[in-house]
Amino acid sequence: MGFHKEVQCSRSIMGRLASGKDLLLELTKKAQLEDIKLGRVEALGALKRARLGFYNQESREYEYHEVEEPLEITNLIGNISLKDGEPIIHAHVTLTNSRGEATGGHLCEGTIIFACEFFMQELTGAELTRGLDAETGLPLWKKE
Ligand code: ZN
Repeated sequence: MGFHKEVQCSRSIMGRLASGKDLLLELTKKAQLEDIKLGRVEALGALKRARLGFYNQESREYEYHEVEEPLEITNLIGNISLKDGEPIIHAHVTLTNSRGEATGGHLCEGTIIFACEFFMQELTGAELTRGLDAETGLPLWKKE
C-alpha cells in the first residue's frame, strides 16, 4: 500500500568526497555526521570502479554487477531515512564509460570514488523508517 507524508526542506550541505574512498560509505558518514535522519542526496563526478545491484523480483535477492573501469557519474539520486535507528542512504546511479555507454543500478558498497561533488538536504516534519515489506521482500518505508 502506498502512502505519503508532508516534509519541509531544512538545512543543506554541499561538498566533495575524498578520492579512493567508498562512495556509499562516505555519503552515509556525511549523513550520520550531520545527523540527517531524513533527506535527499544527489552527486556527480567520476569513479575508479563500481558495484551495482539489481533486485531480482522473482528470487527476491539482489544480483551484483561489478564494473571494472573508469566511469563518469552522470547522475546519482537518493534519499536518507532511518533503518534500525541509523540514517542510511538509498541511492541509484547512472554511469558512463569512455565509449559513452551507460549502465546503472542500485548503488552498493565497493564503488570507489575518483572525484565526487555532492549535495545533501535535510527534510523535517515527518519520520520515515524502513522495515521489511512482505509483498516485495524489500526494506521499504513503513506508514505507521
Ligand atoms: Zn535501490
